[in-house]
Formats: sequence, C-alpha cells, structure tokens
Amino acid sequence: MASRVIPVQPFDLVIFGGTGDLARRKILPALFRRYCAGQMGAEARVIGAARADMDDAGYRDFARAAITEFSADSAYAHTHLDDFLARLGYVTLDAGGDEGWGALKKTLGEGERIRAFYFSVGPSLFGDLAARIETHGLAGADARVVVEKPFGRDLASARALNSALARHFDETQIYRIDHYLGKETVQNLMAIRFGNMLFEPLWNSQYVDHIQITVAESGGVGARGEYYDKSGAMRDMVQNHIMQLLCLTAMEPPAKYDPHAVRDEKLKVIRALGPIEPADVVRGQYEGSESLPSYQSEVGSDETDTESFVALKARIGNWRWAGTPFYLRTGKRLRARASEIAVVFKDAPHSIFGADAGRHRNILTIRLQPNEGIEMGVTIKEPGPGGMRLVDVPLDMTFSEALGPDAADVPDAYERLIMDVIRGDQTLFMRGDEVEAAWEWTDPIIEAWEASGTAPCTYAPGSAGPDDALALMHRDGRRWREIRT
Ligand code: NAD
Repeated sequence: MASRVIPVQPFDLVIFGGTGDLARRKILPALFRRYCAGQMGAEARVIGAARADMDDAGYRDFARAAITEFSADSAYAHTHLDDFLARLGYVTLDAGGDEGWGALKKTLGEGERIRAFYFSVGPSLFGDLAARIETHGLAGADARVVVEKPFGRDLASARALNSALARHFDETQIYRIDHYLGKETVQNLMAIRFGNMLFEPLWNSQYVDHIQITVAESGGVGARGEYYDKSGAMRDMVQNHIMQLLCLTAMEPPAKYDPHAVRDEKLKVIRALGPIEPADVVRGQYEGSESLPSYQSEVGSDETDTESFVALKARIGNWRWAGTPFYLRTGKRLRARASEIAVVFKDAPHSIFGADAGRHRNILTIRLQPNEGIEMGVTIKEPGPGGMRLVDVPLDMTFSEALGPDAADVPDAYERLIMDVIRGDQTLFMRGDEVEAAWEWTDPIIEAWEASGTAPCTYAPGSAGPDDALALMHRDGRRWREIRT
C-alpha cells in the first residue's frame, strides 16, 4: 500500500544551529528523505545559519557527511544527494549579535515563498533570534518558527519563553516540536479511537479498569549525561512525551481533526489532572553492574539525586475517567526498549464458567516501539476436551505486516513534522497554553521532591525499575505489564 505524497509549496527553511547535532542527525536527513520522496520540490531552499565560519560548499560537505551517516537508506541509493545538496546554502551568523543578519536577508531576498525558521539552538537564544528576525524584517505574517524541546524547565521559564516568542510572532506562527507527536503510531492512536466504532463506546471508566503508559529505554544516559542530570526523567519525558500520550489516550473526540479542536481537547485533559500525592509517585536511579556504569558514574557525580526513572499514578477528574487511574512510568537502563499504551478493561460482570475458569481481562495494547502495532487480548476456550477452560490469546496486528512492505518505510517523525510546518498545519505541535498547563501539573511534584530532600530509590540495570514502583501497583491490586520487546 504505497502512501500518497503531496508536494509542498516552494519554501525557504532557515536552520539556526544548522551545524549542530540535531541538524546533523535529524533535520538534514529528514529533509533529504522528503526530497527523495518528491515532497520537497527542487525550488525549495535550506539555509544553515550558525556561528561556524563556513561557506555554501562547506555546508554541503557537512550535510553530505550527515546524510551519509544518518540516512543510510539503500532504497534511495543516494542518487538524489547532489541534487538535494544544490538546494543548500549557509550563512555565518551570531544569534546574539548583528553579524551575518544582513547576509541572511540578502540570501532570502524578496518573494512570496513560504518562509520557516527552525530554532535548533538552546532555548536561551529563542528570544534573541525572534527579535532579530523581526528587526531585520525577515518574517512576514505567514512566516513560521519551529522551536525544539526543552521548552522551559518549569512553569516560570516556559512562560518567559512563550512571552519572548509572542513579542514577535503570533501563536499561529509558532510550532513547538514534541517529536512523539510525529510518530506514526501516536497519530494512529487518534485513528484507532475516532475512526472505529468498536472502541470508543468502551473507552471510559465504566469499562476500563486502568491504563498503563510505559516508555522504557534499555540504554543509560550515555553522552547526554551532563544535560540529563540537570533535567531528569520528569522534565525530560513525563512533562512532554508521556503527557502527550496521556492526552491523546484520554481526550474527548474533537469535533474535527484540526489544530484548534485537537489541542483544545488535549488541554482539557491536562487541566483535569488531579494533584499527585507523594505516595503515588516513585523516583528511581539506576545502579551499575559488573559491565555497566551506574547513573552516578555516567554523569560523573556521586551526589546527584536526579531521577532516571519515574512511576506515578495519575487521576483525571472528569466524567469519562473518574475512578480509572492512569499509571505512567518511564526510565533508562530498564529491561528493554519498549513503549506502549495498555488499556486494561474490567472483568466481565459475571463469570458463567465458575471460579475454576480464572480471571480473564481484555487488554488493548498500542505498541509505539518496537514493532509498532496494536494487540487485543481476547479470552477463548482452551482447545481440547475436558471442560470449559479459558485462555487469553492475542489478536495481534503489526502495522508493517498488515500494511505491506511500504509501511515499514514510514517517515521519521521529523520528516512529517517539518513538512507539516511548511504546510502550515499545527495539529501535531504543542500550543503555548498546553505546555504551560503541563508544567503547572509537574512543577509541584518536582518541588515536593526538592523540599523532601529524599534521594531516589535505586534499581538494578536491566530490571523493571525500583521495587517501590512495583509496590505502587500492588497496593491497588494491579500489576505492571512486563517490559519486553
Ligand atoms: P549543538 O550544541 O550540537 O548545536 C548548537 C548549534 O547552535 C550549533 O550549530 C551552533 O553553531 C549554534 N549556535 C550556538 N550559539 C549560537 C549563536 N550565538 N549564534 C548562532 N548560532 C549559534 O545542539 P543540538 O544538539 O543540535 O541541539 C539544538 C537544540 O535542539 C537544543 O535546544 C536541544 O536541546 C534541542 N534538541 C536536540 C536534540 C538532539 O538530538 N541533539 C533532540 C531534541 C532537542
């Protein structure tokens, strides 16, 4: 089943921080793939803008190396690479000074083309960039700015970033990236919920016992140690990615699939989240083993109490979800790299098969990685004579198998999101009030940890997290699903 490619209008995309790690690993390879797919046309231009002293040819060499390393896609055989590189230019520029801005203006020239500015730099430069884009008259009313995470480290800093951007751009021009929203399965969550009659009537506290959202990584902090240690799992994963998964799972059906309707519904979920009791949240930090370093040795501090794991029980105070807890967990150096949303339905109200038949529950699992797909656990009769014994079997659909070989070649999240920016579709980007509401919910949890001065619980590498996280579920007579690939 080949996917349809609709070419976007001609555009100029300026990547501030165009020589950085994100541009190298994600943005340039994503653009190249869209060029190969025919979505980015030959009239498009991509202009790297960063501090490094470089010319157009130097930037093309940089991009060639990046694409060769990070877009090792034999299907394209890199036959289009020279064509793509011819679309690239470079301007040496200082975000915090005036050097280079005249050259950028000259390069962009006049015209009716779509213009987008990707802020692939640290957030401390967002305000400077926004102001200089305006001072130098580079942006019309239709220009777009793309900003990366982290969008603040608490409510106050997120508000400051929002107002720094709002001084120069309208909210309809601002695209805050959460790359989880660009993942095919995350969007499929909406398609599964709102494109089928089957699930939605059961999607509430009358039929759903609880929901588990797990984002587990098997790797440690690695080279990101310094950055991660200032952030921790709550800021790095829960406030943004897990919050987005929670919103899409819990929100009411929007009246239509458009940026305002979808984001209004997500915001209502965040605002309905109840405060978290200290007993309902567990922080963890991984220990080392004979072959693996501990969190503390990876970040080079034996005093740090930053969490590499969080598990918590959230409650949504609205009619649909009152009484149905959402258990969220994320962590590094866990048993496997596996992310899923599991909707655990209630027991059938009465078992006609008697006590010996055991307890059977339907679980709908939406797998985000690996093997993106959905699995529905159904109870059937165990084959064979000898009475009515029941057994649970999965109705399993791995998307790549169900949709054929083309489905395995789904665009990376960045490919989709950058093309959405050019198309002017904000549906899969976070709105300012959404980001602030998410911080408003997470700030008190982090503040309570800081005030308590307690250290996170430790957990063994390759485990399912600290014992206290298991106890969080056991207390409620429930248990976490196994973390497995
Ligand atoms: P980086 O340090 O590798 O690159 C920073 C870039 O900004 C370089 O091109 C540098 O020249 C440029 N720069 C810095 N100061 C400048 C100035 N005063 N004027 C002009 N250019 C300047 O950083 P990165 O990893 O590419 O990350 C960029 C942003 O994206 C950060 O906010 C980061 O948190 C975010 N992010 C990165 C990743 C990733 O995978 N690298 C993932 C998610 C979010």
